[in-house]
Amino acid sequence: MSEPRTEHLTAEQRAALEAELAELEGPRRKAAVQAIKTAREFGDLSENFEYHAAKNEQGLLEARIRTLRDRLNHAVTVEHQTDEHVGVGSIVGIADEHGDELEVEIDWPRRHLLMRTHTALHALSGVVFRDFGAKVTGGNMEPGVARMDFELDGISVEFGQDVERRLNEELTRGYPTEILYLARQEAMKDPDLIRTKVNLIPEWVEEIRVIDIVGLDRQADGGTHVASTLEVGTVRVVKTESKGKANKRMRIELVDR
Ligand SMILES: [Zn+2]
Repeated sequence: MSEPRTEHLTAEQRAALEAELAELEGPRRKAAVQAIKTAREFGDLSENFEYHAAKNEQGLLEARIRTLRDRLNHAVTVEHQTDEHVGVGSIVGIADEHGDELEVEIDWPRRHLLMRTHTALHALSGVVFRDFGAKVTGGNMEPGVARMDFELDGISVEFGQDVERRLNEELTRGYPTEILYLARQEAMKDPDLIRTKVNLIPEWVEEIRVIDIVGLDRQADGGTHVASTLEVGTVRVVKTESKGKANKRMRIELVDR
């Protein structure tokens, strides 16, 4: 079983987050309150678009403040690590193909957001396969936003909303994610791994790394993930579109990012 993951921050990363929080709680909050005040003067609140937009903006701002506060309250400050393990805070020297050297450090907020997005995509593929029998045909992600294509005959806004509801319901159940290493022979017999095309992995790879969202989705995968679907937070399906026959796309984003 995996331990719940605590966010690790170096002193510099913590200071950067604290500065961002101060900006949001200071000038940005003041501006949001002022925008609502100004909009209110436009008249009748029920028909007042500016007022509702300003209230919505304020809601999003307050949600970001809560998320940041929560992260800072739970994060552990770490020293730069100097042992052989590369982790948050490690400064690692690497060289490119021309022999030019550079020093790199893991950008934890970016990495963590990618991990949450990645786990969200796997959960999405698990839900869509379980409830609609549709396989994944492609996908892509950036921190906080992603798209996934499915072998579906049709797609609609309502379908997107239905999937969004099902996905969020599953995420809140807190499925743990585990990393397994299976012998290639074994992996080739696993129905979930066959479904997600484990056969596309080059023949010379003998040990298959598997991300198991235990009870929801199992895929051969080389990427980084969060420890539980709870850590993903809430996901929105922002767009549904057809990319051709039996290739239907859903774009998602994480609400807290
Ligand atoms: Zn993946």
